Amino acid sequence: MTNIAVIGFGAAAIGFISEAISRGHKIHVFERSKDVYSSSISGIRSDGKLFVSKDMGGDLEIPIEIQREVVNYYISKLDKADRGNIKTGVSFSKNSEYFELFYSKGFEPINSEFFHIGTDKLTNVLKKIYEEFLTSERVRFHFNVKIDNVVFQQDGTIKIQSKNFEDSFDYVVIAVGRSGHILVNRIIEEHPELVLSDNVVDIGIRYEVPNHVVKKLNEEMYEFKVRMRTKTGYMVRTFCNNPSGKVVLEKYDDFVTVNGHSNSKAETSNTNFAILCSTSFTEPFNDPVGYGSFISKLGNILAGGRKVLLQTYGDFVKCKRTKKIGRVKPTLPIGNYVLGDVNLVLPRRIALSISEFIQKLGEVVPGLAYSDNLMYAVEVKFYSNKLDNDKYENLKFIGDCSGHTRSITYATAHGKMMAQKL
Ligand SMILES: Cc1cc2nc3c(=O)[nH]c(=O)nc-3n(C[C@H](O)[C@H](O)[C@H](O)COP(=O)(O)OP(=O)(O)OC[C@H]3O[C@@H](n4cnc5c(N)ncnc54)[C@H](O)[C@@H]3O)c2cc1C
Repeated sequence: MTNIAVIGFGAAAIGFISEAISRGHKIHVFERSKDVYSSSISGIRSDGKLFVSKDMGGDLEIPIEIQREVVNYYISKLDKADRGNIKTGVSFSKNSEYFELFYSKGFEPINSEFFHIGTDKLTNVLKKIYEEFLTSERVRFHFNVKIDNVVFQQDGTIKIQSKNFEDSFDYVVIAVGRSGHILVNRIIEEHPELVLSDNVVDIGIRYEVPNHVVKKLNEEMYEFKVRMRTKTGYMVRTFCNNPSGKVVLEKYDDFVTVNGHSNSKAETSNTNFAILCSTSFTEPFNDPVGYGSFISKLGNILAGGRKVLLQTYGDFVKCKRTKKIGRVKPTLPIGNYVLGDVNLVLPRRIALSISEFIQKLGEVVPGLAYSDNLMYAVEVKFYSNKLDNDKYENLKFIGDCSGHTRSITYATAHGKMMAQKL
């Protein structure tokens, strides 16, 4: 029986434990939050959109059957009455009339299936999973334990350390997501050989439009995913579409960015989605997190504190500070934004790319380029360094902290597949 420590209890840990539990191992889970529900914000605690796709979610090859297993696993944890009510959709099936419409304007339509659980239902899903794990004598949870470091021992075991606690295990699985970057950075400072690459960050805006503008798209696909190589050379994409959803702040210790989510029931008359520009640099650059953080902070400085900037698309194109909004009413509460000029925050190459992207969206769905549509800045997606899981036999990184996943389905499947190799 292997004595295993799993650090973090998010999507990847769920995948790992659900598989390892049946293989007779003793598993200790260490989670920094005070209980299973109140962890740092992520898709497993907010929104809960599950994707099945070959083209998005991470750079791992995850067979479609495993992705479906993962999705069915989460759906099976919903109350029976809710299972039939989850919203689903297919982004750009080959039969969709939209495929050709987007394609002809230079977009690459991304094929994916969606299953939306909703923020309000996720608590119960997590509760069920947690309670099922608890019924096994081989799984123990330790909440309120933030692991600060891991140390290889002479006897081949690995010691995990936190402020008031340390213990040694045969096998340690790091599953701390992106919010656990401090621990991961600490480990790679001591073991730089683990790093495969580290130079990507996605920067952009959250875009908000009235539901009626995207009604047909939302009904057919739930989430429409397209990307396009713009004239600047940057790849720009849509991300995280929330029909009838809300724009929210994403809070970091020293700055705030913008994000979006939706509940299982329609709550607003707007749809929001991110428009992100993928930036990837070469030497001597080695600090994508620093780059994204600085741009976000600049937005906060202009907005006068822990707030984001809000501008209409029309004013953005004219490089004019927005003083008055038009027909689209922001779903982000008023104290969380300041009307301003997003051009003062985004680097020119990113601003141009986003501008071109929205203009092209408007050529397919005219309402997507209405001048009173709303742009919130900045939205940032940080990625972890890509780590090498072949370097050590008994220290593994699963889910987003490994740098190889960026969705619930991929992170869960990564955990599951890692446990299958045990
Ligand atoms: C606001 C938001 C919305 C999202 N919405 C979606 C969505 O709808 N669909 C989708 O597919 N993806 C979504 N994502 C991405 C998705 O959440 C992640 O890809 C996925 O959760 C990654 O799983 P993970 O297990 O790697 O990390 P997480 O699920 O983030 O879990 C990591 C866990 O580790 C804990 N932890 C961190 N550091 C430590 C430490 N030092 N010691 C102990 N515990 C620690 C954290 O508290 C957390 O519980 C969203 C992300 C965000 C931020």
